[in-house]
Amino acid sequence: MALVVQKFGGTSVADTEKIRNVARKVIREREAGNDVVVVVSAMGKTTDQLLAMAYELTQNPSLRELDMLASTGEQITIALLAMALHEMGHKAVSMTGPQVGILTDNIHSKAKIVQISDQRLREQLETGHIVIVAGFQGATVDGSITTLGRGGSDTTAVALAAVLKADCCDIYTDVNGVYTCDPRLVPNARKLEAITYDEMLELATLGARVLHNRAVEFAKRYNVPLQVRSSFNDEPGTMVVKETGNMEDIIVSGVAYNRTEAQIKVYGLPDHPGVAAELFKALHDARIVVDMILQNVGHDDTNDLSFTVAREDLNAALDCAKAVAERVGAREVIVSPNIAKVSVVGAGVQSHTDVAANMFKALADKQINIQSISTSEIKISCIIAEEDVDKAVQAIHDALDLSVGSV
Ligand code: ASP
Ligand code: MG
Repeated sequence: MALVVQKFGGTSVADTEKIRNVARKVIREREAGNDVVVVVSAMGKTTDQLLAMAYELTQNPSLRELDMLASTGEQITIALLAMALHEMGHKAVSMTGPQVGILTDNIHSKAKIVQISDQRLREQLETGHIVIVAGFQGATVDGSITTLGRGGSDTTAVALAAVLKADCCDIYTDVNGVYTCDPRLVPNARKLEAITYDEMLELATLGARVLHNRAVEFAKRYNVPLQVRSSFNDEPGTMVVKETGNMEDIIVSGVAYNRTEAQIKVYGLPDHPGVAAELFKALHDARIVVDMILQNVGHDDTNDLSFTVAREDLNAALDCAKAVAERVGAREVIVSPNIAKVSVVGAGVQSHTDVAANMFKALADKQINIQSISTSEIKISCIIAEEDVDKAVQAIHDALDLSVGSV
């Protein structure tokens, strides 16, 4: 007997008919003789609606109360799914995150899981129940309800799969798997059979919206075999796994884009030790997550430095940058609010020099200016103007022949 964790996202449980469809998928797994733990998201756009109500009342809601509110979405789904399963003749029990024993830190609205006890889950499984767990939530040591950040139900599912040492964790969603690019933007994008944790982590972090990046981190750390698949058909999805032998043939797995960041450039920083440290300490103290950091080669005893942040953090980041710039005597601080980042991700990116050349040529052929470039072992990212994103991803995808496989 295997232990299977299944996770169903918001669109898969958007109404009661869809919840019945989910119940059938759960039962199929159960009738194959497996123990099943199901993690669900809030129905459809419920989380958005709940949060919108909060902002109708106040522009500055308490984060503790926001979590209290947002966590109710998932609670609706678990109860309804349990009822659907009962009606179909199966033993099922719903549990909130705190009831399961998902302990988090106290950073409301983006809490991190610190510990999960498997005891109550095991008790329910041993008495023959299908256990349905509310995704996206946990509680602090003193019992306050927390949420794990938008899209966090994936993380709940993978974390449970890790503590239970599940045989697999299937993430059911509204797409058939992980694609070489967002199919809404690139119609000839191709579904991948498999992708490595590292590549998936890059894609998720860089803006592919199929999996929560913390879920992928967990899966990688605990070696949880993940599958991303559709809840609306029975086709095999995309396996997210450790690198295997034949994956070496694959040079590029996908193209990702992100239009949620803004760039801040600090020009004319004095070129001596401690300046970057001071700037990024200030940003860290303001709890601002910084993404792409670039420093130019210095000249005339000065340096230019740029970094990107989430647009919602732009004002706070700008305040930090301006304050530090003034303290250390930098020349000026400039903001590019409407940038986008397009990235090519693949295990072979570093060793195949043609990838960068082809990517840059694809952009050049479309007259798209590259504002910054950064690379890692498995990715190349370019900052471009936001308005060029659609054109850019299609051009790069075509130039790298991703619709037919990159060999
Ligand atoms: N319901 C939450 C959200 O919409 C969590 C999730 O769907 O994973 O962000
Ligand atoms: Mg969701």
